[in-house]
Amino acid sequence: MPDLGTHLASAWLAGRLWSLWTRIRGRDIYLFCAGTALPDLLSRAPHLALDTLGTRYGFNLQYLTRPLHTPAALLLVSLAVSYLFEARTRARTFAALALGALLHCLLDACQVVGPNQGYLWLYPFSSFSPQLNLFSGDRTPLAIPYLVGAALLMEGLLRLRRSKSNPPSCVPRSPKVIHE
Ligand SMILES: [Zn+2]
Repeated sequence: MPDLGTHLASAWLAGRLWSLWTRIRGRDIYLFCAGTALPDLLSRAPHLALDTLGTRYGFNLQYLTRPLHTPAALLLVSLAVSYLFEARTRARTFAALALGALLHCLLDACQVVGPNQGYLWLYPFSSFSPQLNLFSGDRTPLAIPYLVGAALLMEGLLRLRRSKSNPPSCVPRSPKVIHE
């Protein structure tokens, strides 16, 4: 899998690119990035943390954590998390989290080397596991400086565009009228 830094930087860049075409609130981009971290936080982190326990007591934690890296489970988790937010922002929250999580799945599917059996998008019902073999998952940290550079460039362009569309007001303030 691409590392978490690559996932987050890609999501930030994708969110900012998207905001070139349509107005997206900063809050939604943060949620989009949180959504892109969800799959590995739910499946990889517990697996790495508890793997030693699993080995000692003879149970395979992957049966519990692997489903949490599937698109269907991630949509359900995004829906559940969105209910922690106010009703008026729930739909946007769900969309941002779910799209972020699906971007994560897409990036994982683009790499050459996946887990032994792949990511099993339809686990436990099917062994369907798309791998597009576009880049090595082990080498993605090398892309982080470029992604961060592109994100910073994008921030600069967006700020420039915003300042052109909302120029600072040149009209001097009217002096206070002092009544004697
Ligand atoms: Zn992943």
